[in-house]
Amino acid sequence: MITYGHFIGGRRVEGTSGRFADVFQPMDGSVRARVALASAAELRAAVENAKAAQPAWGATNPQRRARVLMRFIDLVARNNDELAELLAREHGKTIPDAKGDIQRGIEVIETCLGAPHMLKGEFTDGAGPGIDIYSMRQPLGVVAGITPFNFPAMIPLWKMGPAIASGNAFILKPSERDPGVPLRLAELMLEAGLPAGICNVVNGDKEVVDAILDDRDIKAVGFVGSTGIAEYIYARGCAAGKRVQCFGGAKNHMVVMPDADMDQAVDALIGAGYGAAGERCMAISVAVPVGEKTADELVRRLIPRVEALKVGPSTDHSADFGPLVTRQHLDRVKSYVDLGVQEGAKLVVDGRGFTMQGYENGFYMGGCLFDRVTPEMRIYKEEIFGPVLSVVRAKGYDEALALANDHEYGNGVAIFTRDGDAARDFASKVDVGMVGVNVPIPVPLAYYTFGGWKRSGFGDLNQHGSDAFRFYTKTKTVTSRWPSGIKDGASFVIPTMG
Ligand code: NAD
Repeated sequence: MITYGHFIGGRRVEGTSGRFADVFQPMDGSVRARVALASAAELRAAVENAKAAQPAWGATNPQRRARVLMRFIDLVARNNDELAELLAREHGKTIPDAKGDIQRGIEVIETCLGAPHMLKGEFTDGAGPGIDIYSMRQPLGVVAGITPFNFPAMIPLWKMGPAIASGNAFILKPSERDPGVPLRLAELMLEAGLPAGICNVVNGDKEVVDAILDDRDIKAVGFVGSTGIAEYIYARGCAAGKRVQCFGGAKNHMVVMPDADMDQAVDALIGAGYGAAGERCMAISVAVPVGEKTADELVRRLIPRVEALKVGPSTDHSADFGPLVTRQHLDRVKSYVDLGVQEGAKLVVDGRGFTMQGYENGFYMGGCLFDRVTPEMRIYKEEIFGPVLSVVRAKGYDEALALANDHEYGNGVAIFTRDGDAARDFASKVDVGMVGVNVPIPVPLAYYTFGGWKRSGFGDLNQHGSDAFRFYTKTKTVTSRWPSGIKDGASFVIPTMG
């Protein structure tokens, strides 16, 4: 069995705390590896190492830093099959979906190749008599990222890229459920030419997270995970005087207007609701058809499609989605389905009983579809994070808009319509950070920024795009006046010694 330690100071090191967690292979339920859970003392050693390495990296010009990332992109491409298989085996998602996970992370690294441009300051010539003002962006020093299980390549890369390109030393605390890929990515960074100590991976649980939050030398923490933990990390990190950004859970609605292209809407709901077994923060978990006729038509078309979903092991390229991440999470998702039935929602497709032949111990369930879900129900209010789609019927457009606006989460939302005016009104008025118009998963591309509103995001700067460079740097503004020098006292007579 594999034992994962940490990646500190440019090499893999064993854990010394004596504490470990199991890493499962969800497709057959086996324990694939164990991962060391770092102590506060191990974190401290990593921080000391990073702190010593950072000044030289921060002083390396941004173009040279970007060149390291250029080589890293090439190395990830060469190792793509190996990384995707490792990711699929530890997470449970299918291999093609794992490749998407890597690709969306690499796109952020590609944007970081523009670091020399992103880090340029501003300049005002002649802000006063003989006075110029200019600003510069400088690295913070040692910074950290704490990431969730559901995108073990993409989200670590979203943090790593901008932090490192900005000249910081970076410490990643990935999810303890799938640490294999983050460790490989750090190794590939070193192979690409990154100096030792600039990209570190410290595995662990709450103990090491608390140590990160309290460490005086860690200047910024970027977190992605569930809302309860996001709130905790935001409060504790801010109280310790750090810069903190936290992205939390979601309940993404997709409004289907009566004039929507129904084929497109159904395809979108199937992909966005059930892809990656619903374990995406941008998954659609609530469909909001407008009007009874639209709702009846939508549900009628969805039922056979949900029943026909192909669930399979992560290595089956033809599967629509794979198992959930752990048995514990599978049980939690199933218990939400039980709860929905108790609450009075109509379970029109029940995937709870699904088992995968030949993989009976895997963490599988089939797709579930609820109709007639209402806003008072817990299955509507809470994030389920599984292959469960709820249909909430709205009488009119205003009611559909109000549903998205009144929900405590505000990560993503979509509207399907052929009416440009309705789409425009929706995009303008909806109280949600990322909006799709006839696009079900509106994850902005790497050169825009990513972030949810309300209880889906804490802090004022988004992930990737220009915000990430702001988050991982501090601004210095210089006001300068040079006293009059040689030009006033210039002499046009040849100097003599007389
Ligand atoms: P999680 O909150 O359980 O874990 C996230 C990180 O926090 C992990 O590194 C974990 O080790 C750490 N952690 C867990 N419990 C902790 C505790 N008590 N104290 C300190 N640290 C702790 O989240 P998860 O289950 O790994 O990921 C799924 C969640 O992440 C979902 O809610 C999903 O919506 C959310 N998510 C959000 C986004 C976004 O951008 N908004 C993106 C991806 C995932």
